[in-house]
Amino acid sequence: GTSSKLPGIDPSKLEVTKTITPKELVPNKDLVFGRTFTDHMLSIEWTASDGWQAPRITPYQNLSLDPATCVFHYAFECFEGMKAYKCPHDGSLRLFRPDKNMARLNKSAARIALPTFDGDKLTELIGKLAKLDERFIPSEKGYSLYIRPTLIGTQRTLGVGPPGSALLFVIASPVGPYYPTGFKAISLEATDYAVRAWPGGVGDKKLGANYAPGIVPQLQAAKKGLHQNLWLFGPEQNITEVGTMNLFVCIKNKETGQKELLTAPLDGTILEGVTRDSVLALARERLVPEGWKVEERYVKMQELADAESEGRLVEVFGAGTAAIVAPVRKIVWKDRTVDCGLKETEEAGEVALKMKDWMEAIQYGDEASPWSVKI
Ligand code: PMP
Repeated sequence: GTSSKLPGIDPSKLEVTKTITPKELVPNKDLVFGRTFTDHMLSIEWTASDGWQAPRITPYQNLSLDPATCVFHYAFECFEGMKAYKCPHDGSLRLFRPDKNMARLNKSAARIALPTFDGDKLTELIGKLAKLDERFIPSEKGYSLYIRPTLIGTQRTLGVGPPGSALLFVIASPVGPYYPTGFKAISLEATDYAVRAWPGGVGDKKLGANYAPGIVPQLQAAKKGLHQNLWLFGPEQNITEVGTMNLFVCIKNKETGQKELLTAPLDGTILEGVTRDSVLALARERLVPEGWKVEERYVKMQELADAESEGRLVEVFGAGTAAIVAPVRKIVWKDRTVDCGLKETEEAGEVALKMKDWMEAIQYGDEASPWSVKI
């Protein structure tokens, strides 16, 4: 962290300037992910000499930065993606596992020489922003407020070095259900000509620099009519992640027939998804007693293809904040298409359906849970 002598983030110093031109709400059905934003934003400046400055909530506005600002040249940027949910019954607001997002943002920041901070203090301020802009959050289930905390280096210099100043800002975008008309299974292209992350790299951090290089492989997949690309790694063609989600595979054990829920281990190349962690925890609590095995280990692309050939591939799904779970219908791998176990008339498997229900019950406050933080 930063030197303990310097001031940390202090919510008691918050200055609020409310907008005098409130935006018109976009009708629910027209909400597009990340396209419209609420009335306000939160900003906190940091300098190496004075630490964190007083937090400010202001009208949503442009930033003004010198063209030599280090973020534009050397990608001193990290971010988070989290959501606030409004309970359809009583209108109360909840953040889902914000401590996880704060811990991850701190890890990302530390890796690129940006300042760290007290996550609870930022969560408190994010709560204030969400509350202030709560009229933007529809009260229907499936809707939420996508929150984007962002930290950038703001030092004005082309010298490559640790930024002497930084800006933490938080913006928020009302979003609709990922699948407005129910689940829709996605199809993937297994990408083996490019890698998302590598040992010793920064794939486990949420750095902006990790995302731009992922677009061309995604376009390659789209050219073949596929929704996303599946990131493989290494000579073994280990399955790592899908687009911007972690991946789960359900297969029946070759020897015992036991159902196994598998996902890649956190070895430094996998983003430590909050949804991934939640799916694992729920599976260990609720599927293991039903006889499932839950394991964090790599599945090779060949192993997945073999499981399909032998009729042991039960289900595949992606997991992330935006969709919660994204069922996978098929994976195109070289000349082969691996069918991921859904019937033609089905859009989701049993585990994906259960996970979505379990998570939503907690997120919207139907089920009390320490994961759901009332604001
Ligand atoms: N992997 C990558 C590469 C991602 O960008 C995301 C989205 N943050 C995830 C996985 C899923 O993480 P989470 O469940 O925290 O949204």
